[in-house]
Amino acid sequence: MRHSANQAPSDVIPLNWLWISLVLWLCASAGCAPLASRPIAAQRIYEPTRTLDQEPQIQRGKKRPVIDAVGWVVGIPSKILLWDRRVDNHRIGQATEQSIAQYVDRNGLSTVRVRLNQYDPIEDWKRLVRNDSVGAPWRLTIGALSVLGETVIPGRLFGGDHYNPYTDTIHIYSDVPAIGLHEGGHAKDFARRKWKGTYAFVYGLPVVPLYHESVATGDVVAYLDSYGSAQERAEASRILYPAYGTYVGSAAGTFFPAASGPIYYGSLITGHLAGWYRAGQQLRQTNHLVSGQDYLALWQPASRLTAATQDHSNQATQDQVTDGPTIHSTASHAASVGHTAVSTTDTKQSPVIPSAVQTESAQVAVQP
Ligand SMILES: [Zn+2]
Repeated sequence: MRHSANQAPSDVIPLNWLWISLVLWLCASAGCAPLASRPIAAQRIYEPTRTLDQEPQIQRGKKRPVIDAVGWVVGIPSKILLWDRRVDNHRIGQATEQSIAQYVDRNGLSTVRVRLNQYDPIEDWKRLVRNDSVGAPWRLTIGALSVLGETVIPGRLFGGDHYNPYTDTIHIYSDVPAIGLHEGGHAKDFARRKWKGTYAFVYGLPVVPLYHESVATGDVVAYLDSYGSAQERAEASRILYPAYGTYVGSAAGTFFPAASGPIYYGSLITGHLAGWYRAGQQLRQTNHLVSGQDYLALWQPASRLTAATQDHSNQATQDQVTDGPTIHSTASHAASVGHTAVSTTDTKQSPVIPSAVQTESAQVAVQP
């Protein structure tokens, strides 16, 4: 769709380039506000009661060299866009696996499933049916369409790392730890949403994804400020800034469809420049910026306190099957942390949380 003659693209493009460049330049120089360090806060999470099973939480697809080779080629455009050959490479290394494993473990995301280059539509359909934390009308319509999409256009071949809130499943095809963490950030964000179907639906509207993406990446930045090395923080900026740039470009393009292409690529390139600039800054900050307990303090503060005092392999509270989603607010969630079938070398943080932090976190409201 083109604008009328007096709104020729040549009139529109410079203004948008200027606007986007200015915004992203400010991002780069001041620490991008949408991508600033911002731990996801919640006092309650709303988990499904019927998706837990005896399967490992983190699973890998079987070796399929021919399919993965084709998938690697199909993923060339994504590799170029994000300028990283590990994107959609369908070969997930140990570092990426350990990174996402530690993230879900530390955040106590006990019900999310992580598929590393795995195609398992039958299980995904079962999880869609059992995921009672999302309203049935949403699951039967958009949720079913999303799983149908995953079934007939498999990420195993076509790539596309994503989190599916209708099945509560993270799908990873890129060997980039920061991308895995970002999808984990989406899972964490959804975990605290009571109206998950609605929250997922609005993601499909124009511009709205900027919010969801900013929340997920903000948590990753905060997480790496606490647990990551300077290299990991820099690597995350180099990939997550341009990735966010694609969302900014898409959003801006909806207002100026005649110039959507240049806006998209302009935003992407500016995202790369901003990411590289930020990465340079981060490589000079070698110390941890925030303690792990400060990162976790805003997330289930009471459960963190309890989790650290319990045997991690506590199976006493195998989740009981009840009607409606489970609301884990404190100790019940803490105990379910032991459910994660992830082996990590994570040492639990000290359970002592400064009282000032507790008071602040207690005031955080859950935004549905
Ligand atoms: Zn995202």
